[in-house]
Amino acid sequence: MYNLIVALNTETLNPKLKTLNLKMPGFELFGEAERKELNDVLDNGVLMRYGFDGMRNGHWKAKELESELELQLQSKHAQLVSSGTAAVTIALASVGVGAGDEVIMPTFTFVASFEAIMMLGAIPVLVDIDETLTLDVESTKQAITPKTKAIMPIHMCGSMANMDALQDLCNTRNLILIEDSSQATGATYKGKPLGSIGDLGCLSLDFVKIITAGEGGAVLTNNEKFYRNADHFSDHGHDHVGNDRGAETHPFLGYNFRISELHAAVGLAQLRRLDEFVAIQKKNYTIIREALSVIPEVTFRTVPEGGEESYSFLSFFLPDLETARNVSNAFKEHGIDACFHYYDNNWHYIRKWEHLKDLKTLYPLSQEVKEGLKYLKTKTFEQSDRYIGRNISCLIKLSWTEEDVRERASKMKKIIKGICS
Ligand SMILES: *Cc1c(COP(=O)(O)O)cnc(C)c1O
Repeated sequence: MYNLIVALNTETLNPKLKTLNLKMPGFELFGEAERKELNDVLDNGVLMRYGFDGMRNGHWKAKELESELELQLQSKHAQLVSSGTAAVTIALASVGVGAGDEVIMPTFTFVASFEAIMMLGAIPVLVDIDETLTLDVESTKQAITPKTKAIMPIHMCGSMANMDALQDLCNTRNLILIEDSSQATGATYKGKPLGSIGDLGCLSLDFVKIITAGEGGAVLTNNEKFYRNADHFSDHGHDHVGNDRGAETHPFLGYNFRISELHAAVGLAQLRRLDEFVAIQKKNYTIIREALSVIPEVTFRTVPEGGEESYSFLSFFLPDLETARNVSNAFKEHGIDACFHYYDNNWHYIRKWEHLKDLKTLYPLSQEVKEGLKYLKTKTFEQSDRYIGRNISCLIKLSWTEEDVRERASKMKKIIKGICS
């Protein structure tokens, strides 16, 4: 624990982390506020979020963070959990998704999406993306079968799916809408925070997200029953009535997906800075976007009408796969870090998910899941390939000075122009 405190005791900007080729930037701005919240927990030693009422001197960091999430993300309920992956699993379990059910998700996401679905014995049905880099509405419609239970848009790289169209589709087909806004916390659609729009929303507070708790996640919902399910399921089915854990009843089976008070404390300090982080990102994003806008070969990802990004990434398209590859390589050669050509990335796009296609698991899968995933052996996703092949997404950092950003923007512009001419 001593080391952790020392690490957080550095000044606001952590120079060691500044050059790391990592993802979203909450970790970049870390300091006094995070340390203060954490010390509250260390001072009384209650590292668990439930119970020990007498020892904790009134500190309930997880509960406090949940209340602030509810306020800031405009949801009636927030349930904190141990990770974003757990949040997705819990959201699905809370609405009763299980053995043999189908959940529609996009081809471009983080591996957590299918992991969470498969953990419940359900079947991920992968569907093409469009120029928003999120679920294509028409392809989603075509993928619905009698087994479909939920549609799960993933708001990748700071921007969103067409939520009105997906909500309409879910309403007419009687399906659950679950948003994964792990990569877009702080973005809004028609004035509403992402994560608060669907039946349930999921976020991640892992180390590389816009705000971080180290590890952690949250489920958001306005639905009383889904909330109660998420609350109990993430803590062994405990009903959380009274203050004697041993005396609580268990209305149904659960697991342990709890967050610790240490993580919640850090998350609390970071959530209070969300608006500040988004504002910095917007400023940096705008400088780079304006520089690249003058290149006729560059087009930007489509943001659905009424959407406002979190500005965590600037995502743009080049004319073809080869140009995108060349630009991506040239960026790397010239020190433009943290730009991703996801077509060649092992983590975020269907093309390289061999472990999923080959169903490499440590344990036997049910016959239903084996059958249900056979389509991945042969199915191709030309439409997704067309967008992801041409896309480059560049992380927008918080720690850049304006001079850094301007220099970066002009380097990027020169590289792209050189390759496109
Ligand atoms: C990071 C991420 C997750 C999972 O979050 P963890 O907290 O790392 O488990 C889920 N979905 C998306 C889109 C993510 O980017």
